[in-house]
Amino acid sequence: MAELFYDADADLSIIQQRKVAVIGYGSQGHAHALNLRDSGVDVRVGLREGSASVRKAEDEGLRVLSVADAVKEADVVVILAPDQVQRHVYRDEIAPNLNEGAALVFGHGFNIRFGYIKPEAGHDVLMVAPKGPGHLVRREYVDGRGVPVIVAVEQDASGSAWDLALSYAQGIGGLRAGGIKTTFTEETETDLFGEQAVLCGGASQLVQYGFETLTEAGYQPEVAYFEVLHELKLIVDLMVEGGIAKQRWSVSDTAEYGDYVSGPRVIDPRVKENMKAVLADIQNGAFAERFIADQDAGAPEFTALREKGEAHPIETTGRELRKMFSWIKPADSDYTEGSAA
Ligand code: NDP
Ligand code: MG
Ligand code: MG
Repeated sequence: MAELFYDADADLSIIQQRKVAVIGYGSQGHAHALNLRDSGVDVRVGLREGSASVRKAEDEGLRVLSVADAVKEADVVVILAPDQVQRHVYRDEIAPNLNEGAALVFGHGFNIRFGYIKPEAGHDVLMVAPKGPGHLVRREYVDGRGVPVIVAVEQDASGSAWDLALSYAQGIGGLRAGGIKTTFTEETETDLFGEQAVLCGGASQLVQYGFETLTEAGYQPEVAYFEVLHELKLIVDLMVEGGIAKQRWSVSDTAEYGDYVSGPRVIDPRVKENMKAVLADIQNGAFAERFIADQDAGAPEFTALREKGEAHPIETTGRELRKMFSWIKPADSDYTEGSAA
């Protein structure tokens, strides 16, 4: 059974006595910075020159400095820039300015697990990774709740890295919901696997194939969209509330029977073999290497794949249909329809 932590297991005063620099003010960065600030922690934000994020942070009353200056002031440095740029920011701006004994906090283990960042021995290296998008991490905190976090210590230079990690997790509201003890390796490998095989990659491909199968058979795209994409949310909500069992309890007996007899025909044992191959490429570093090589080359493969995805007919159908759904409010983010292409 996993080791769990709640507010009662942590001492908020530890992080309240530290000077925290949050590097990056995107999805996670804004949530960590604002939640810590509202928990009585001394926070500054480090951003690159000309960053579009500066105004957002300043509008919230946060002090914004260059990355170098923020790091110089801090004894806890939280690295929440995108994974693919973290090693550049670390090498050029963080490491040369890092105070002796300053702790490093990550929101995802990618750069440590795959060796792109190798902190010197004198620094605590921690991870506090909320299991939800940053906008939810902020919203839940404001509402007096929290998003569960997973917590890890890679390097315990001070001998009290776990106390700091739990205090930080409490500061962002995560221990209101609960924290789970993990390692950088477990977090990184399971996070990448989940998003690739099931949540993002698997689900997107399943929906696209379902849409293609129906429209190629002559059914109307609008009707197909409802059946394979729109209703997915209702099904997933039921799973989250009560597992697959509650989902099966809620749908009709017809749907439940179809689930049993046709699910394993669509997702057959070969899919599990494919999943194992995906997991192997995560574990042996092949995925990380491919991602970083493409990013370093200006992301040609990433950009082409994003454009191909945006051009899929289900997106055109969805853009029109969603105008009918007055109750679907855009989330509190900067996303605009079609902006990815
Ligand atoms: P975003 O892309 O949302 O935000 C990145 C932020 O970093 C922006 O403010 C950006 O500002 C800034 N930034 C970009 N380049 C630099 C640079 N060279 N120097 C300084 N700042 C820079 O990132 P996420 O919040 O999605 O991800 C941050 C970390 O959190 C990652 O490790 C990710 O894996 C992890 N994580 C993310 C989750 C999520 O919900 N998104 C969930 C759990 C973990 P600008 O471009 O304006 O300069
Ligand atoms: Mg992830
Ligand atoms: Mg139906």
